Amino acid sequence: MRKLVEAARHEVADLVDALAKNVVFCASATEANNLALNLDWQRPGKPSLRRMAVSSVEHASVTNGAHPQNTDIALLPVDGQGVLDLGALDALLNEWRENGETGLVSVMLANNETGVVQPVGEIAARVHANGGLFHCDAAQAVGKIPCSINEIDADLLTISSHKLGGPLGAGALVLGSDSLHQPNALIRGGGQEKGLRAGTENVPALAGFGVAARAAARDLATYAEKSLALRSMLEAALRETSPDMVLFGEGATRLPNTLNFAEPGMAAETTLIALDLEGISVSSGSACSSGKVKVSHVLTAMGVAPALAGCALRVSLGRETTVQEIEFFVTAWKRLRKNLHERRHRAA
Ligand code: PLP
Repeated sequence: MRKLVEAARHEVADLVDALAKNVVFCASATEANNLALNLDWQRPGKPSLRRMAVSSVEHASVTNGAHPQNTDIALLPVDGQGVLDLGALDALLNEWRENGETGLVSVMLANNETGVVQPVGEIAARVHANGGLFHCDAAQAVGKIPCSINEIDADLLTISSHKLGGPLGAGALVLGSDSLHQPNALIRGGGQEKGLRAGTENVPALAGFGVAARAAARDLATYAEKSLALRSMLEAALRETSPDMVLFGEGATRLPNTLNFAEPGMAAETTLIALDLEGISVSSGSACSSGKVKVSHVLTAMGVAPALAGCALRVSLGRETTVQEIEFFVTAWKRLRKNLHERRHRAA
């Protein structure tokens, strides 16, 4: 059992260019983010962390996962493309410096809704110049684009197993250095996972995580090339069909498999159901909770008007997606538009 877990630890470490001893296994990326977002990290010779800032487009497990004692979390803005505003980060770091303080900054590698990739290397350099600690939630990006904890120079990096093709029930918080110490365990009990996440490890899930990490590292280049070709094909076909289409984050570097678009007037609530009836699963840019449709916080942070955000559809291409499936999607989309326009015409 131990051998399986340790083999997986090496595979996961290799995928992100880390040392196996610095991989803390958890049950999900959500757990890893909750473990990371704690101001009590101890760093020999470095100042205590007093402040915390996260980008305004983070996953809820970062935004809500912050240390319970830390109520004062700064939200860093993004520009219209969804890219972090480095000027705003500089201003905040200056403010911390003027108060003789530093803190923990958390910015994701790639956004789960738009696929927009953040300039995390530049962010880490700025945070470190300020004496701070940098956490990067790479759950959505690892296995899709190259991700090296050393190149980014992240102190903490979050990974999810199922996001890179592995089983559910596994994730990891990877430390950039073994001199980092966290006195507060995520789950208290035995000494597993450096005492940070007690409980007998989920060996089958972790073994699968390791296998998926090895496969992702091996297939990274071909995966990126294939996904990008399919995504470009889909974008071109949608653009031709829907000239008014807005492609969110179009001007930014994006994950090769993610596309988030809206055609004004085509409400996601309706198109999602119609596509589902065709056997096509996409997500809307809005989250439905407690019966209320909530506009995406990511699109809102990018300055997208609520009416347009309500039309946003998020398409994620899988590792097995084919050209035929893209063509199927485009045909279904054309039929949907035609039906909608005809219905509107009859109603007018
Ligand atoms: N972070 C990001 C960017 C995600 O996209 C997700 C899941 O969608 C998570 C964290 C949470 O991952 P998990 O489902 O492993 O808890």
